[in-house]
Amino acid sequence: MSITRRTFLGSSALALAGMAATGKVEARPVSPQNQSSPKRPTVVSSRNGIRGVARAYDLMTQKQADPLDAVIAGVNIQELDPEDQSVGYGGLPNADGVVQLDASCMHGPTKRAGAVASLEGIATPSLVAKAVMDYTDHIMLVGPGAKRFALDMGFKEQNLFTEESRQDWLRWKARLNPHDDWLDHDDDVMVETPTGTINMNGVDANGNIGSVTTTSGLAWKIPGRVGDSPIIGTGQYCDNEVGAAGSTGRGEANIKICGAFLTVELMRGGMSPQEACLEALKRAVAMTEDRLLDEKDRPLFSLNYYAVSKDGRYGGATMYQNPQAYLEEFPERGAYSVANADGARHEPFQFVYENSEIPAYMQGRLMLRLKRLRKAKK
Ligand code: ASP
Repeated sequence: MSITRRTFLGSSALALAGMAATGKVEARPVSPQNQSSPKRPTVVSSRNGIRGVARAYDLMTQKQADPLDAVIAGVNIQELDPEDQSVGYGGLPNADGVVQLDASCMHGPTKRAGAVASLEGIATPSLVAKAVMDYTDHIMLVGPGAKRFALDMGFKEQNLFTEESRQDWLRWKARLNPHDDWLDHDDDVMVETPTGTINMNGVDANGNIGSVTTTSGLAWKIPGRVGDSPIIGTGQYCDNEVGAAGSTGRGEANIKICGAFLTVELMRGGMSPQEACLEALKRAVAMTEDRLLDEKDRPLFSLNYYAVSKDGRYGGATMYQNPQAYLEEFPERGAYSVANADGARHEPFQFVYENSEIPAYMQGRLMLRLKRLRKAKK
């Protein structure tokens, strides 16, 4: 299961090859291609954060907003959008049909953090996480305690389960067991576990940093399952001296490597945000159990990292380059969101494995999703 047997690609292939040989995490020279130049403010986020990075950037530049307030305002857009089924209102539910949300945030200048997990009935868990940070001596509240706290703080309870998410949940249930009493649907069914989340990290003009991650977690999860997003150092992490980073994708893989903390520490060691994101992915592969690797030791899941450094450089990396059909029809699917003085835009992910290397099982899942995307576009 040696890491040297795997093919690592992307702009930092040279650097990664060196690292693969030693298996050690060490600072390396920054390769000039695909590296961003320092600019402040800068906001970096997952693909779905394209509207959010623009809002966060505007708040920081036009209203001198605090960087954490700015990125939380950015992710609120997705939390309140019923069409984003990975976050907040409209998020896909757990196996029982209950939407359970996770979120965490960090404020660089004051070295504070807050988080909530398995929160039900409140559409903006990022703001509840911030309230935990602002008003309590604790860092994380979960389940009924988190909800009670949110209600006490004046958050309004609402039904987060939209009709579209309910239909998806029923389709999933109908396909679970071929011998049950539910009739199968022949349209594309998400038997596989769709993933999605929003992470956003921002550095303001003075070099102060904030980070936030919010999610409905893995769809159809076992009730009570908590992912990486609300765990400080995993879903996101921020050190005002260095930068911030966060993750989306399979939380179980990220938790084991404390991925956001690791990415920030790699930047502290001298890596660019881009290199640090790729290196964190490499570490996640190295820490993957056999049952989640294909016959060529490639992971059977997707994982992404996003990072910004104190000087305003940024990066984003994913495990697999998207299949050709995606690149042609939905280029933004292989991209992450950035806003700085050059505007708000999607930038292509660096990736660990080329699309020709996607394991068959992953291909199948991606093709199912492609079907859904095409249908939604019509
Ligand atoms: N990381 C999230 C979780 O594991 C899911 C995702 O980003 O897709 O809960």
